[in-house]
Amino acid sequence: MLNVPSQAFPAPRSQQRVASGGRTKVPLKQGRSLMDWIRLTKSGRDLTGFKGRLIEVTEEELKKHNKKDDCWICIRGFVYNVSSYMEYHPGGEDELMRAAGSDGTDLFNQVHRWVNYESMLKECLVGRMAVKPAVPKDYHEEKRVLNGMLPKSQVTDTPAQEGPSSPSYDWFQTDSLVTIVMYTKQKDISLDSVIVDHQDDSFRAETILKDYSYLIHLGLSHEVQEDFSVRIVENVGKIEIILKKKENTSWKCLGHPLENHNSLIPKKDRGLYYRKCQLISKEDVTHDTKRFCLMLPRSAHLQVPIGQHVYLKLTITGTEIVKPYTPVSDSLLSEFKEPVLPNNKYIYFLIKIYPTGLLTPELDHLQIGDFVSVSNPEGNFKISKLQEVEDLFLLAAGTGFTPMVKILNYALINIPSLRKVKLMFFNKTEDDIIWRSQLEKLALKDKRFDVEFVLSAPTSEWNGRQGYISPALLSEFFKRSLEVSKVFFCICGPVPFTEQGLRFLHDLNFSKDEIHVFTA
Ligand code: FAD
Ligand code: NAP
Repeated sequence: MLNVPSQAFPAPRSQQRVASGGRTKVPLKQGRSLMDWIRLTKSGRDLTGFKGRLIEVTEEELKKHNKKDDCWICIRGFVYNVSSYMEYHPGGEDELMRAAGSDGTDLFNQVHRWVNYESMLKECLVGRMAVKPAVPKDYHEEKRVLNGMLPKSQVTDTPAQEGPSSPSYDWFQTDSLVTIVMYTKQKDISLDSVIVDHQDDSFRAETILKDYSYLIHLGLSHEVQEDFSVRIVENVGKIEIILKKKENTSWKCLGHPLENHNSLIPKKDRGLYYRKCQLISKEDVTHDTKRFCLMLPRSAHLQVPIGQHVYLKLTITGTEIVKPYTPVSDSLLSEFKEPVLPNNKYIYFLIKIYPTGLLTPELDHLQIGDFVSVSNPEGNFKISKLQEVEDLFLLAAGTGFTPMVKILNYALINIPSLRKVKLMFFNKTEDDIIWRSQLEKLALKDKRFDVEFVLSAPTSEWNGRQGYISPALLSEFFKRSLEVSKVFFCICGPVPFTEQGLRFLHDLNFSKDEIHVFTA
């Protein structure tokens, strides 16, 4: 639902198929692209029937609007009249109608919860769902919240057996510092499981505990300096965030709770949070792919876990456009040398510019110093899958190479059992191969690493492999280093490529536990 539409979209190999998790899409009529929709929303036409007035919608009222020409849908508490959007929805009218006259939040979250529907549908906003009268908050409970204990009532939707045991937080101070301590009760937490942002006096710290998100969200009672530090005490699962006071006065309280403060909810239900990052550099990597370096604000702590992606957001003609991108290391050989820039403040991306694409030309036009919004990380790759692996096989096509970069670096340095990593990298032509010379250098440097390039449209001079992913290619390439070895496969690229790869690997009797397919 509510995906970015475009005429006759997506093309057989369009990126949008991947972004939507490979769902089937219907061809859209002429004049029903995203740009056409943006134009309609800017035309001043009344798309809600309320001339911009917002109303409170009861459940009974919502239910009445369940037809194609009168269709209201509730997403995360807000009700939209999507009747005029029907023909622009790339998933098709029927898909949108599944949520007609009802709460479509779950359906939306299942398909593509990251889509910026708020911006895309802002002219369709009818109003909020009427709230059932809430029990007034008890003063003592509020006080307990600020002392860092999690009231039972705020542990929303947390099944006792499945979720992590209730995290909590506390704080203490010295003359110059305030330390916020999150007790996660989970031993394997690392610096990339905590994301901290503070802007003005608003402080936000989210920690990912298995598939749950625990959030501290406060309006701080006093000003603090921009920079801060984060420390993990791994053996007890404790996170310490050390803030520097602007003035050396004693704080009577830490602050007041903001939205969803002290809540523990499934990660998928937590909205994406964005911070503005500055473009530091943009360099050519191939004829159409560039390496972008973005700098996080000093007031943010964010490390993207290996194998995960973030969403980049830009406002294009008044509408927010969001697409996923997978951060890479600054170079393939970077783990073997001192980083040029301290690596915890910079995020690198390899981005292919599609001249007729929606977002990438805008990214390409950014000037050094411009800002791009970067979301919290997402993705279901678990680095623990690589534990004790002996043969690691990476299958990448085009920019599907991006998740392989950090996996490759990680495997060569951190997996003692590793005997061999093989990358099979599919591209159209030699000119399309990202970081070819780095890959070749790495293969020379580290005997455990082999790379094989396969081209689908090579010139006559090419004497390497050519063609498409096939069972013959795979069975020849995927030779184990020992007769019996622990293997793992990662696959990333255009959806049809990953689907075929997966099928072929199953045919070769590899189990699903031995394969990770990267999708949105
Ligand atoms: P789009 O507007 O999506 O267009 C893409 C192509 O489709 C263009 O060639 C365009 O001409 C064509 N097209 C558009 N509309 C039509 C139409 N109606 N008919 C025919 N053709 C059409 N990409 C990277 O470069 N680097 C990454 O690290 C990266 N990581 C990703 C991670 C994930 C999890 C996923 C799912 C995708 C990732 N991508 C990455 C792809 C990225 O998200 C975008 O899909 C890509 O950048 C294209 O965006 P765009 O808006 O510029 O192009
Ligand atoms: P591309 O250049 O169009 O394709 C790369 C290679 O794959 C080419 O040789 C191409 O052959 C081949 N190929 C394409 N479709 C194929 C199919 N059905 N079967 C066999 N081979 C096929 O790729 P790109 O433009 O860089 O796109 C990369 C894709 O990866 C995008 O869809 C992007 O969204 C996705 N991606 C996903 C993630 C993630 O984490 N999920 C990360 C990064 C990128 P021909 O073109 O010659 O036919």
